Amino acid sequence: MSQPKVLLLGPPGAGKGTQSGNVAETYGVEHVTTGDALRANKDMETEHGTPREYMEAGELVPDPVVNEIVEAAVSEADGFVLDGYPRNLSQAEYLDGITALDVIVSLDVGREELVRRLTGRRVDPETGEIYHTEFDMPDDDAVADRLVQRDDDTEDTVRERLRVFEENTQPVIEHYEEAGELVRIDGEQSPEAVWTDLKAAIDDA
Ligand code: ADP
Ligand code: ADP
Repeated sequence: MSQPKVLLLGPPGAGKGTQSGNVAETYGVEHVTTGDALRANKDMETEHGTPREYMEAGELVPDPVVNEIVEAAVSEADGFVLDGYPRNLSQAEYLDGITALDVIVSLDVGREELVRRLTGRRVDPETGEIYHTEFDMPDDDAVADRLVQRDDDTEDTVRERLRVFEENTQPVIEHYEEAGELVRIDGEQSPEAVWTDLKAAIDDA
């Protein structure tokens, strides 16, 4: 399979963005991420308001807005790694109608570790590279000095995002599991060990 269509599921902080970078680089596929697309268009006026209002509260942006982003991106790509979507059953149904997936993976991480990862997450605004205050800081001081924290990576918003995940996204994972299509990976391992398992899942598909 030269151009796989990979779906990465998991709670906020599970490592989806980090591992999507590996998939995109190794397999030469598009990284399709609704979170980044929405952050780049936070103040876009839609009939449902702007994405910013929802994102800063840790709530889901309305389905029509994200469905449109995903449809445009996946219809242009041969292969892709999809990260951050679908986040509820209605988005999953929409996705089923527009593409066929080769691999569906859930990165499993416990709640305490998720809070630690999200509150320590830092992003390089120039490259989009993801770092962590304890687990993964850049060697270059100039890069370290310019890192920023996402507005929604504060403790209160993190708690709400984890609640929204349990209520809306956990059923999506169960849906793919019941269909026998899901590969579960222990996301609490080191990034390198997670990548070894993920790469094996893609190569076995
Ligand atoms: P997601 O896209 O699922 O929200 P990220 O890839 O942004 O998750 O990772 C969240 C935070 O956890 C980041 O700060 C990242 O550096 C860190 N991280 C990612 N994978 C691991 C891992 N296996 N072990 C420890 N920290 C990790
Ligand atoms: P995380 O690192 O928590 O996985 P993302 O970057 O994927 O975060 O998403 C950040 C925010 O963007 C979400 O809390 C939500 O407000 C919005 N968002 C991203 N993807 C979707 C989606 N598929 N449906 C609705 N809202 C979304």
